[in-house]
Amino acid sequence: MLESEGFRVTTNVADIPTAVMGEAGEGGPVIAILGEYDALPGLSQQAGVAEPRPVEGNSNGHGCGHNLLGSASMLAATAVKDFLAASGLKGRVRYYGCPAEEGGAAKGFMVRSGAFDDVDIAISWHPASFSGVNKPESLANTRIDFTFTGRAAHAAAAPHLGRSALDAVELMNVGVNYMREHMPDGARVHYAMLDAGGVAPNVVQARAKVRYLIRAADLTQLTPLVNRVRKIADGAALMTETTVETRVVSAVSNLLGNTPLEKLMHDNFNRLGPPEFDDADKALAAKFQATLTKEDIASAHRRHGLKIVPGKVLCDSIVPLEISGAGGVGSTDVGDVSWVVPTVQARGATCAIGTPFHSWQLTGQGKSGYAHKGLVHVAKIMAGTAVDALRDPTVIAKAKDDLRERTSESPYVCPLPADVKPALDMSLSE
Ligand SMILES: [Zn+2]
Repeated sequence: MLESEGFRVTTNVADIPTAVMGEAGEGGPVIAILGEYDALPGLSQQAGVAEPRPVEGNSNGHGCGHNLLGSASMLAATAVKDFLAASGLKGRVRYYGCPAEEGGAAKGFMVRSGAFDDVDIAISWHPASFSGVNKPESLANTRIDFTFTGRAAHAAAAPHLGRSALDAVELMNVGVNYMREHMPDGARVHYAMLDAGGVAPNVVQARAKVRYLIRAADLTQLTPLVNRVRKIADGAALMTETTVETRVVSAVSNLLGNTPLEKLMHDNFNRLGPPEFDDADKALAAKFQATLTKEDIASAHRRHGLKIVPGKVLCDSIVPLEISGAGGVGSTDVGDVSWVVPTVQARGATCAIGTPFHSWQLTGQGKSGYAHKGLVHVAKIMAGTAVDALRDPTVIAKAKDDLRERTSESPYVCPLPADVKPALDMSLSE
């Protein structure tokens, strides 16, 4: 699509076969518009159906709305390209197609490869219940695989000869559970079993693998926490006479805000007004909202610092810039971009108010009329923000000053160890 729209296209960005960059325009400042398009395992759901009904033969689904994310960003980049051609202004717009946001940290690898070195500002967005400028809050994180190796043995005839790798994983999980009480506020530790050592309980499990996802407010808090989890893994190996090997899968930095760009984007929201949804949109959104709990709806409001309006199913206003919400903070690989390029993100209303992300309900609304209207609306916001910055280069200078100030105490350090390469298949245990 980039080629057919006349962009100059670079594929295989950062040696990731699904990462792509398209550039248009000549000279001047470089504006990056970031798109994502990855799905999530286990979240397949038929479009427009307000009860759990996966698509047969497909277990993946756009449970975080990245189908909309990539498309709206592409639309915005195309509009900016057309503006540049029509206005004759010096400047370039780039669409960065960023895969594997959900755990792959592709943008971190793209930053590390220098893909953003000559970019002046970056713009992106994320689907949401409400429209407005994104509050720059996200956790730094890292994913690490711990592989324990023990010794297989007949579990009944010769258990004393066996050393269980599965026992080591269980002890590690217990150890981490005890650590949880003593973590900094807002830190999170999750895990997933990748290999429980096989299906035979009568064989002592010689190999087991667990993936840990560790999150904290920033790298200063994250690094000591990761070291503690590593010590617990070593302790579990010591207790079980097994060995443990670790491999970092991915890592992302926390998100940095940018006040001048946030103001600029908010001006664009005020100029354009909220997205306009019709009666058919509201009827379908109401069906999805009926499947949510009161707490789902309350926490979506809380996250945006808004009061609940009973009966409202779709966003019809702009979240004020100065309001701050509470809770509901995840991680994003946009974080790494925000440390090296002044970055701003929008939130675009594309789902029934209260829809939890990473849910079948979100997948089910991904092709709805209101999702498409929200997509076009937020594309206009991003394009408008880019055009304002191209017309008035002092905005870019202010945005760069803001970033310089935020990073003066602690400059960017890439959280990805130098020998870690992009994981091209997240489901593989290698
Ligand atoms: Zn997402």
